[in-house]
Amino acid sequence: MPVDIPLTRAWIARVAETIADQADYLTQLDSAIGDADHGVNMSRGFGAVTDALAGLEVATVGDLLVKVGTTLVSRVGGASGPLYGTAFRAIGKELAEATVDTARLGTALRTGLEAVQKLGAAVPGDKTIVDAFEPAVAAFQAAADQGLAAAALAAAEAAQEGMRGTIPLQARKGRASYLGPRSVGHQDPGATSTWLIFRSLADVAGDA
Ligand code: ADP
Ligand code: MG
Repeated sequence: MPVDIPLTRAWIARVAETIADQADYLTQLDSAIGDADHGVNMSRGFGAVTDALAGLEVATVGDLLVKVGTTLVSRVGGASGPLYGTAFRAIGKELAEATVDTARLGTALRTGLEAVQKLGAAVPGDKTIVDAFEPAVAAFQAAADQGLAAAALAAAEAAQEGMRGTIPLQARKGRASYLGPRSVGHQDPGATSTWLIFRSLADVAGDA
């Protein structure tokens, strides 16, 4: 299955729906180890993305994803806006075509992960977005030759495992790190939203 503009639009629309549905859950997770705004930040951001993409004519998959990123950077307060915004922009910059194959999307996702790590300086184990994003990209790339649906499903499963793996960790980056050992025992909100983003891709790839 090719990664084209309609599929990319469907992915982002599914992310926006899922984030809106799960906003209270994300905020509840952030209330335990942060400042109780992750769901608010993400749903406001993807609400703005939905508005920005409506009626936007694009020539490439990348144009769409760069717009997603730019909108998140400009509209989301908190750490997650610049981090996800930078990721989507970096992914989009790699995909300057109307249709790309699964392996190309995998390479672009890797570039998005690298951009997040460059900006936020987090490594796996720091209890952040990276704990879900890194295994998701690795699983996606490992399964890319089986096609988009299989790669996206593998990525979503790996992201979920990474997300659950944040529970016993002590946060070393972001607001939760201020809690020190008291951050242990709670699931990271950003790793959770990363899982939702990959699960949304698996959903639309599976439907198509
Ligand atoms: P804020 O922490 O500014 O209130 P959010 O609540 O929207 O922003 O997002 C919090 C999430 O951001 C955390 O759960 C964590 O996953 C992620 N995060 C914070 N700092 C970093 C970082 N340096 N690198 C990667 N992810 C980070
Ligand atoms: Mg917060």
